[in-house]
Amino acid sequence: MEKKRILTGDRPTGKLHIGHLLGSLSNRVKLQYEYDSFIEIANIQALSDNFNNPSKVKDGIIELLCDYYAVGIDFDKANIFIQSEVPQIHEIFIYLANFATVQQIQHNPTIKTEMAQNRYEASTPLGFFFYPIHQAADIFSVNADLVPVGKDQLPMIEDARELGRRFNKTYGVDILGQPEALLGTKINVPGIDGAEKMGKSLNNCIYLSDSQEELKKKVFKVYTDPTRIHADDPGQVEGNVAFTYLDLFSDESQKEEIEDMKRRYREGTIKDIEVKGKLFEVMDVVLKPIRDRRKEAEEMKDELVKKALNSSRVVSSIARETADEMKKAMKIEF
Ligand code: ATP
Ligand code: MG
Repeated sequence: MEKKRILTGDRPTGKLHIGHLLGSLSNRVKLQYEYDSFIEIANIQALSDNFNNPSKVKDGIIELLCDYYAVGIDFDKANIFIQSEVPQIHEIFIYLANFATVQQIQHNPTIKTEMAQNRYEASTPLGFFFYPIHQAADIFSVNADLVPVGKDQLPMIEDARELGRRFNKTYGVDILGQPEALLGTKINVPGIDGAEKMGKSLNNCIYLSDSQEELKKKVFKVYTDPTRIHADDPGQVEGNVAFTYLDLFSDESQKEEIEDMKRRYREGTIKDIEVKGKLFEVMDVVLKPIRDRRKEAEEMKDELVKKALNSSRVVSSIARETADEMKKAMKIEF
């Protein structure tokens, strides 16, 4: 029996951070042998809000490849491909575009947030606006069954499912599947500044490539409870990023100690600096091996790029098949 397919991806807009690790990367690593795995470096999508900075997007590709290697993605198992090397995705996009409406995209909550962040207001570039449809084309290009993503991407998967249903129904076919989202953490990992989401375009990240010193510096800057002035003031644990990270990064054996720290924080018998000391210790255990492997990856950049280009050819031929089936359904195959 054929293995089911997974598709995920990242925009090459910078280095990967701990939000990616917990939101999406850890699931990719866990499932890469059980599924046929496709990982897309979405450079065309990245250009949609970075079109005036192509060097950033180009350099971002190498950063992603090094980060993938660092977290344990197996380049000989997963098909890591570059979006611009699979032009059939754009073809599929234009076929799907007939089934999406401006209103549907306008109501997508992630698009709303990102439009506000980018301050587009009255002049939203179309290239940005239609990215949810383009992302649906990414998924359908390999007809993925499962899409491991962070919480911010759930509305995109919902849109993709809807487009697939409409296309199939209109032409009485069963070509496009119903991809399922697979969430890593149930939450968006918050930024060190307390923002709801850590994002590589938001300047509030702990990167997988950060040195131990950088990690320490950032941990000691993490947003806690701004109303707590003295160590003996009772503090707030909810919305306190230091505790959110502790919950996310600690293993079972540490849970009891962390619960005790929360209790002491609430009653005002533990200093912020003590909490952050523990946080640094807990995070460094997870991030050190990743940091070490990333150094290895930096020595083999050319090899990693070559593998990605080879996989892009494989994906391109799979996407050709999907696009041809769609053409047949639309009676434009000659
Ligand atoms: P950008 O700010 O350029 O959009 P990003 O940090 O949001 O970058 P993406 O490349 O857009 O990263 O997202 C890649 C994947 O990582 C997606 O599945 C997304 O849901 C997930 N992800 C990104 N940020 C977080 C986060 N803070 N918490 C959990 N998952 C995240
Ligand atoms: Mg994003």
